[in-house]
Amino acid sequence: MRSSHHRNHHARRLLCLTALACFVAGGTAYACTRKAAVPQLPELPAESLEQPAEYGVQQSTLTAAQAQAILDDPRMILVSRTHPITEDYPVETKECGSATAINKTLQTEAANAFLSMQAAAAKDGVDVRMQSGYRSVSYQKKLYDNKTQYYRDKGLSEAAAREKAAAIVNPPGCSEHNCGLAADLNSPEHTTLDTGFADTDAFRWLCENAEQYGFILRYPKEAESVTGITYEPWHWRYVGPENAALLNQSGLCLEDAIAVLQRIAAGETVTG
Ligand SMILES: [Zn+2]
Repeated sequence: MRSSHHRNHHARRLLCLTALACFVAGGTAYACTRKAAVPQLPELPAESLEQPAEYGVQQSTLTAAQAQAILDDPRMILVSRTHPITEDYPVETKECGSATAINKTLQTEAANAFLSMQAAAAKDGVDVRMQSGYRSVSYQKKLYDNKTQYYRDKGLSEAAAREKAAAIVNPPGCSEHNCGLAADLNSPEHTTLDTGFADTDAFRWLCENAEQYGFILRYPKEAESVTGITYEPWHWRYVGPENAALLNQSGLCLEDAIAVLQRIAAGETVTG
């Protein structure tokens, strides 16, 4: 049991590393077109430039099937305005927030990961707390309907009321909190959900360590145009440690990473 688990883990790490070779190449190319400041590519030693085949071998090791397996991982689910989930999306939750948190649960695996991460932060003298976690699709619907009604009452047309409401509250199924894998985090030194959180020890600790507990910064500043969500330093998404490492080292946000994986799964060669 233990050794097979060990082998499995090793296999996953290998997959992760080979996938990264692809991802980094694809991601770098993308980053260059997206960012105003073009990132500097590391200089390659002369001999490696003469042996491009080595890179080819590395890149080809992420097979279409492997890319598909990552896409099929339920922890990689994409939830957004363009990818809503339905009310019957299965969520098994566990309590993991503080007593004052609004929504105190996450999917069980994510909740356990959060609790481990919180304990590790505490050991480093950093207080990370969860302010908001899982929100069911039906609860999201209630929030959205209430907001829509508010605008109807103000005399707006049905379409205008819905549009106004949607600018403030995500429609049902469109919030990542609806899948139970997203957590809004804060710290006693900064309890409001705004960009000021980026200037806290808690945020700096998360940037350094959240990946090994499976969490990623879901809405980075440089990905605003892709995610459609303005920079949210407090919003962290559980994808599992292997996927978090893959995403972070690729430099791609979840939307872009999924697009690249879909191309590889479809048999395309993705290079820089
Ligand atoms: Zn959030």
